[in-house]
Amino acid sequence: MPIERTLTIIKPDAVAAGHIGDIIKILESNRFNIVAARRVALSKRQAEGFYAVHRGKPFFESLTNFMSSGPVLVMVLEGDNAIARLREIMGATNPANAAAGTIRKLYATSIERNAIHGSDAPESAAFEISYFFPGLDLL
Ligand code: ADP
Ligand code: MG
Repeated sequence: MPIERTLTIIKPDAVAAGHIGDIIKILESNRFNIVAARRVALSKRQAEGFYAVHRGKPFFESLTNFMSSGPVLVMVLEGDNAIARLREIMGATNPANAAAGTIRKLYATSIERNAIHGSDAPESAAFEISYFFPGLDLL
């Protein structure tokens, strides 16, 4: 399996609920290495830029309000097959559909307030890593 880098965000709901440590524990026990991390209070504009692919969707306005409602922890993770594996341990977007033991099953409270973001493909990982960590190697 290829070593990859992917971007994750511990979202405002999970930061506010005190789950940063719980989520990092899960990431580390799944053999992800944290290669960069920043705690950021996203502006509405920054949230809109990050989620530009969703502009025009019915949930865009609410999502970008939520993502700029409080601090987040943004991290670049590295590991074997990191992009797909992170998506697996995150669980489905809607926690009602998330598998037992996934981060969203454990910590999400709604389809919007779902605790964690993860890049969904190599192209989005490249865009998202550069968005928060310009100049960092993408691998
Ligand atoms: P994922 O984060 O699983 O990749 P998407 O990229 O489809 O999911 O959506 C981005 C984020 O937008 C989701 O994580 C969630 O916070 C929010 N979202 C997605 N779909 C909905 C929806 N139907 N209603 C409210 N919020 C949504
Ligand atoms: Mg997505």
